[in-house]
Amino acid sequence: MADRPNKLSDVTLAVQALHRVDPASGAVVPPMVASSTFARDGDYASRDGYIYARYDQPTTRHAEEVLTTIEGADDSLLFASGMSALVALIEALPHGAHVATQQMMYHVGLNWMRRQADRGVIKLTEFEAGNLGSMAEAVSPKTALVWVETPANGDWSVTDIAAAAEIARSAGALLAVDSTAAPPLVQRPLELGADIVFHSATKYLAGHSDITAGVLSARPGLAIWQDIRQVRSFQGTILPAFESWLLIRSLRTLHVRTARACDNALAFATHVQKLAGVSAVLYPGLASHPGHDTARAQMSGFGGMMSVLIDGPEGRALAMAKAARVFLPATSLGGVESLIEHRLTISGPGYGIPENMLRLSIGLEDVADLIADFEQMLSATD
Ligand code: PLP
Repeated sequence: MADRPNKLSDVTLAVQALHRVDPASGAVVPPMVASSTFARDGDYASRDGYIYARYDQPTTRHAEEVLTTIEGADDSLLFASGMSALVALIEALPHGAHVATQQMMYHVGLNWMRRQADRGVIKLTEFEAGNLGSMAEAVSPKTALVWVETPANGDWSVTDIAAAAEIARSAGALLAVDSTAAPPLVQRPLELGADIVFHSATKYLAGHSDITAGVLSARPGLAIWQDIRQVRSFQGTILPAFESWLLIRSLRTLHVRTARACDNALAFATHVQKLAGVSAVLYPGLASHPGHDTARAQMSGFGGMMSVLIDGPEGRALAMAKAARVFLPATSLGGVESLIEHRLTISGPGYGIPENMLRLSIGLEDVADLIADFEQMLSATD
């Protein structure tokens, strides 16, 4: 095959899965390597560093290399879920390390951090999401890690990543950004000064609601990185071969899926904010959202996630979720199909979620069908 140009865009590299044509067969779809162990060569040395699949394996590494490219990272590590990636990061901190995190964020991640704090594994201070003053008060020279989710689950509040990186850096802490709601082609936290970017790859990166996965990607020279890799090897939470192979397949269409979700979400939010029965649409793409200007500056699209606050008696938002006919009444986000959830039912109390909040993941359908479904949910519960 002819030589390729040296400089290709990240989109081209992702679409072609880094142009790894299988040398044995010429297959343009990378083969899946499902071996749990790897034979040594004649000198009893490992080949390409592969020894045992709990440590590392070729299909997972290939997916990590695609992610490293589109994230502008030095390296990436894939995990069996987003939560196992978060667990590995916290486990890699020194015992008793101080962590500062948001009050409003993915509730299971916060629940887990609170439990670790109760057990004395970490010290935890919570700050108001999107409020840099509150973050600065929570961070001190004793802080090891600042965890930011932007846009953040719940009200989709937006944090200025460059300013947060400055706060963390001046205290000598690492900044990790959960960018699940804004995939790499929409937001690149490492370029804005973050040390680590996290995704629940279950969501936009995989994009088809068919696997659970998590990824951490790092800037160069991160001392904690090898410790995180070691925790993953001890725990065996590396993403397995089949899921990694599906993820490579999904990353090939990430840019078109993301662009469509962003377009659909903006059109949906713009329309729905005017409807009777809607008291607010919380979407960073709307000028009414407090994080709109920051989102415009640091994102190239606003993602497909929003929450809608419903007017009316208690129970109406839940009744609307039950009345959905096109939206699927399920948790999660970032798949091709649109989802609706009554967020308080899913999260439970203690995470700042109001009773009248519906969380929507806008997918790739015809947006007119999504708008019509939302309108029929409103009239069915009027
Ligand atoms: N972070 C965010 C923003 C999420 O939405 C989720 C899952 O919903 C997670 C982390 C956890 O990821 P996973 O479910 O893949 O473990």
